[in-house]
Amino acid sequence: MIKLLDLYKQYQTIHQEIDEAIRNTIQTSAYIGGEGVTAFEKEFSEFQSAKYTVGVGNGTDAIEIAIESLDLPINSEIIVPANSFIASSEAISRQGHRVVFADIDPETYTLDPDEVTKRITSKTKAVLAVHLYGQPCRMDKLKQICEINNLKLIEDCAQAHGAEYQGRRVGAIGHIGTFSFYPGKNLGAYGDGGAITTDDVSLAKKCRMIANHGRINKYDHQFEGRNSRLDGIQAAILRVKLRHLATWLMQRRRIAKLYTDGLKHVGNIGIPIVRGDSLHAYHLYVIRTSKRNELAEFLKQRKIETGIHYPIALPKLKAYEYLNQYNEPMIANKYDSQLLSLPIGEHLTDDEVQRVIATVKEYFS
Ligand SMILES: *Cc1c(COP(=O)(O)O)cnc(C)c1O
Repeated sequence: MIKLLDLYKQYQTIHQEIDEAIRNTIQTSAYIGGEGVTAFEKEFSEFQSAKYTVGVGNGTDAIEIAIESLDLPINSEIIVPANSFIASSEAISRQGHRVVFADIDPETYTLDPDEVTKRITSKTKAVLAVHLYGQPCRMDKLKQICEINNLKLIEDCAQAHGAEYQGRRVGAIGHIGTFSFYPGKNLGAYGDGGAITTDDVSLAKKCRMIANHGRINKYDHQFEGRNSRLDGIQAAILRVKLRHLATWLMQRRRIAKLYTDGLKHVGNIGIPIVRGDSLHAYHLYVIRTSKRNELAEFLKQRKIETGIHYPIALPKLKAYEYLNQYNEPMIANKYDSQLLSLPIGEHLTDDEVQRVIATVKEYFS
């Protein structure tokens, strides 16, 4: 079986470090906050080229808290790509704002800056760019659009740990960025976890307070916040895994290159296209074909797991029927029946990758 993800196999390669990190946390009883969390935040800031990192409970909370910290007028419109995980748009509504879907670029599947421009109204206050699959959005264009129109720029980096745009890792290129440490992400905890990154000290402070009951001291609450914290054991695990992340990213990029070299001349499939100014983090290696379901079934029968990200474009979900964007002729509304994620990650051997390539080729021959 060639798996999409094999977390136990990964654990086996680092189990001594992980076990020790968990044991140390238990010895100090630093379960919530503490030195481990602070150290992880510092190390993650360095890795992700951000001045500040605030650990939170999960990636969805990270987006919500980031939005809340921006203090936008209630009912603001926030533009988000039509192809993403629901957490991106959900956070907007949960914060009392309005979701506006914009279409994706036909080649990179990330938010198309021209489509963003078309969606701007007098109520638009922010753009939530998702570095989907690990592919950075066109941040230069998006920044320019946001500057001209006085909008905040939020980066959803849940799939983009290690992705680079014009030589800089994503997360603090816009005003504020958010990460998920869901176990299957490029950097995953052994449970839920998330983080907010920014270069803006006041936003960092605000987020930290929101995530911790609006407090500055133990019982000094400046406003009502919430409870969304990264716990000590998860931080200890993440510190260990962060030390391996650069190697794992290299392996992802190497596998992606094998796929791209092996599949680029196969008719009928679209392979990921990476702009010259970006370094893809390949959380997912997504191909596109009108024979998606048939190919997935063919691979499954030959013991190769695949995934679909995502099978229903966000505007077409029942949850967003009220927006009436499901019947718009958006690329995202069409591509959801064509996208297929092939296995990628440090758990795969070159032989396994070659077997996936050969099997895809076999299907199309
Ligand atoms: C995983 C993911 C999230 C949510 O992260 P959680 O930690 O699961 O809450 C948000 N946005 C995108 C694009 C994701 O892939």
